Amino acid sequence: MGVLDVSLFGDYTAASRFEERFVALDARAVLRLAIQDLYPGRIALVSSFGADSAVLLHMVSTIDTATPVIFVDTGHLFPETLAYRDELVALLGLTNVQAFSPTPEDLAAFDPETFLWSTNPDQCCEVRKVMPLGRAVDGFDAWITGRKRFQSDTRAALPLFEAEGTRTKINPLASWSATRILSYLDAHDLPRHRLVAKNYLSIGCIPCTSPVKPGEDARAGRWRGKSKTECGIHLGVVSGGAGI
Ligand code: SF4
Repeated sequence: MGVLDVSLFGDYTAASRFEERFVALDARAVLRLAIQDLYPGRIALVSSFGADSAVLLHMVSTIDTATPVIFVDTGHLFPETLAYRDELVALLGLTNVQAFSPTPEDLAAFDPETFLWSTNPDQCCEVRKVMPLGRAVDGFDAWITGRKRFQSDTRAALPLFEAEGTRTKINPLASWSATRILSYLDAHDLPRHRLVAKNYLSIGCIPCTSPVKPGEDARAGRWRGKSKTECGIHLGVVSGGAGI
């Protein structure tokens, strides 16, 4: 199956056919296939430069260091995350990391007191994450995520290929375990996000991230005490002007 199939059958059909055909490939082979054959010049890796991000960033760097890497800076990130981004970019030689942030106009309109995370976290994520990401992926036909099934119950059925409107999302690490992630990081001598040593196993924004206790899901520290479990970028079709 190639690009022609995507245009002929639409992305829902393409995603399910890709899943059927390529589900047995290992993660790096999936990435190489997607970057070089299925979506050449039309695919980006979306990375939070969080706890497990070095795995996909390293794999992508071994395929093409000029692959677009999208980083959404919400304005509420840990300084350790920004330092880790800079460290990995230099170490892996990534040449096309693109940062996207909420616009000053949106912040002035929706979060003038920078307290929206407390009063309306869904709207805060919409303004600070979903809309910037929507602008970032505009023009791409596919994007790569680092989500894994083990991270939470809500991700337990995560496929390798997913349709998202007219785009395809690819989750090369969907079947990976926490142990396998650690083994990969060790085998390639990759640095760790400094907050991992403090039991932050999934790292987002400062106000909405806390350490994880033994036995908890990796994402249990996100929006702790609230019913919210996802920021919204994986709950629908991302768009630069959506949702508010
Ligand atoms: S994770 Fe928290 S601070 Fe970050 S965008 Fe969402 S609600 Fe706002």
